[in-house]
Amino acid sequence: MDCEVKMKYQELFETEMQRLIYSGEVLNQDLFLNEEDLRYRLRNREALFINKIKDALEKIRNNTFGICEKCGEPIESKRLEARPMTKLCLSCKEEEEFKENLHMDGRRHKSLGVY
Ligand SMILES: [Zn+2]
Repeated sequence: MDCEVKMKYQELFETEMQRLIYSGEVLNQDLFLNEEDLRYRLRNREALFINKIKDALEKIRNNTFGICEKCGEPIESKRLEARPMTKLCLSCKEEEEFKENLHMDGRRHKSLGVY
């Protein structure tokens, strides 16, 4: 992945993380928490989301961002644009979903969407 694209995603993640951490809701809960505390204290959507963003930023640092965790192939750039925090390429994701559906009797996770 070229530097420019990586920078773009890094910026996107950092902006999003700041937004989540300093959103009104969080601030009202506790003004003096730092990021690490937040990570352990919040058990809501935001905390989960922040962790995903941190993972993604870590990958950017390790140069593994945009690489499928399963097959090691680059993730389609269109897919990354739609779901920047995805860890799987489209075909691996489809495979996972297929298996998940088999195991879960057709029910889907009600987590944070389809990352
Ligand atoms: Zn893959």
